[in-house]
Amino acid sequence: MIGGSYYHRPQGTATQWLGYNPKLVIHCITAMVSPEIVRTVYASWLASRQAVFTVLDSHFDAGRAFQALVALRQGHSARPNARLRYLAVTEVSELSLPWAVLNGKQVPGLHFMNWPEFNVELHLWVGNTKAALQEFQGSFDAVLEPDAHRQYGRRMVRQPLAMHQTESVAVVGAGIAGSSVALALCQRGVQVHLYDQGNGPATGASGNWVGAFHPHITRGDSPLSRLSRLGFEHTVQALNTLTEQGFLQKDEDWATPGHLQTVPVDEAERTRETLLQLAFPESLVRWAEPNSLLPTPLGGLYFPQGGWVKPARWVHANLQACGSLLTTHYNTPVHDLTDLREQHDAVVVCSAEKSIVLAPIEGAKVGVVKGQISKLQAAVQPSVVLSGESYAIAPPRENWLVLGATYERPVLDLNSTPEADELNVARFRAAFPDWQLGNLIDHRCAVRAVWHDRLPAIGPVPNMPGVFMSTGFASRGLLWAALGGWLVADHCLGQPLESKLLGKITPRGARA
Ligand SMILES: Cc1cc2nc3c(=O)[nH]c(=O)nc-3n(C[C@H](O)[C@H](O)[C@H](O)COP(=O)(O)OP(=O)(O)OC[C@H]3O[C@@H](n4cnc5c(N)ncnc54)[C@H](O)[C@@H]3O)c2cc1C
Repeated sequence: MIGGSYYHRPQGTATQWLGYNPKLVIHCITAMVSPEIVRTVYASWLASRQAVFTVLDSHFDAGRAFQALVALRQGHSARPNARLRYLAVTEVSELSLPWAVLNGKQVPGLHFMNWPEFNVELHLWVGNTKAALQEFQGSFDAVLEPDAHRQYGRRMVRQPLAMHQTESVAVVGAGIAGSSVALALCQRGVQVHLYDQGNGPATGASGNWVGAFHPHITRGDSPLSRLSRLGFEHTVQALNTLTEQGFLQKDEDWATPGHLQTVPVDEAERTRETLLQLAFPESLVRWAEPNSLLPTPLGGLYFPQGGWVKPARWVHANLQACGSLLTTHYNTPVHDLTDLREQHDAVVVCSAEKSIVLAPIEGAKVGVVKGQISKLQAAVQPSVVLSGESYAIAPPRENWLVLGATYERPVLDLNSTPEADELNVARFRAAFPDWQLGNLIDHRCAVRAVWHDRLPAIGPVPNMPGVFMSTGFASRGLLWAALGGWLVADHCLGQPLESKLLGKITPRGARA
């Protein structure tokens, strides 16, 4: 049987049992969802006057209901005011969707896709249903819920939040964190004032010539690894969107040629065991034998989707894409948030290692690590991004390659040193002894801000209402920035995406 029943402002058993009062409950009798139900959800989405209309679909399967909703959207010219936030749960890991990013076998955990042209975002949990239904928290406007899952309902729903009126937000820091927050806010129609002490954007770590990004894996699949995969999806989609809009050029400003992370000989066996244990699809990661991809005596992890981006170009593209809603204030150091909090509806602190000074958090331990990268003439260009002992990135249209980076503590100054260049070269040679390197052209130093647990700090600052942060990116800023922008912008609008996994990166102190 295809079909089911639905309740509008329900008073029946479903609502009593769920213990909350959502605006709409779609209670499907079978896993299938009828066209009538889809039309009802669509009409409610269209009529919603909120910024975000949240649907929970606890039986996504192959995404039929979702596809039908998007198809309705495609067929109607009226643009819904509300963004559709579609939270979905599936135990089916082998997905066959008509959208590239989520095709094929999916790694368990949270996935993200965004269609700005339709005002639609999909947050898909792949894996065990019980865990998944604990994953999504917060309030929902509609719930698509087959009978079998009703037992988990009580945990998954809360009262809707009050709507916020957010018209103007101050963002401190014009690096990749701040520019991503600025863009996400402007995309939601918010006026942004961006402050930076530098004489332009990307003068800090985000001013590096090029950096690498790829999903990470660990034994036991730590939260850091799971979040890195989510961050990766946000990054690739953000870069793709900016490219489609003409603000970035693929292969010139960024690309995803693949990433080889070499592994020391004595760690190779354990790493291969980890790969076997995780059983991730080869489209995400696979073992590469020595000399199979590039001339190296070391085996390694190969991430076919791994990429590079020029961070400063990304920052500029973000700011360009903000359009007229953005006002920049360079040469303007911010020493205290009091005035900004009075002048704006919210303040977002994205000033890397200075964030914790502007927005102190009790018990937070934030370290600072200096790094130097070395730019060399590219005698030969590796076709993929390399890392392991050190990284090597060679954008194909440039005549240089970048080696890096050092980890230096304590940070006494930001001066480049010949010793750091030598170390970068020596580490590269340890993995690629026969690789020809050109002369040193330049070098650059910057610092990384590192939270005690190496996870970023993204979300509301405790005990400072109206203050948020997106920072603590350590060596993975290119994985966290787009995710951070997305999350913080929704926080500023009072409609954050709440999930267990994302809860791990909320700004926090270290446990005693
Ligand atoms: C050597 C090196 C190599 C790296 N390589 C990679 C890589 O390959 N891949 C990767 O993902 N990540 C890499 N990283 C990390 C990445 O560069 C950072 O995580 C990222 O750039 C941080 O972005 P951000 O916007 O938080 O900080 P920043 O880019 O440092 O921006 C902070 C901004 O805040 C401004 N600011 C600070 N204080 C104030 C104030 N009081 N008032 C006003 N403005 C203020 C600063 O002027 C600056 O513009 C590397 C980092 C280093 C140092």
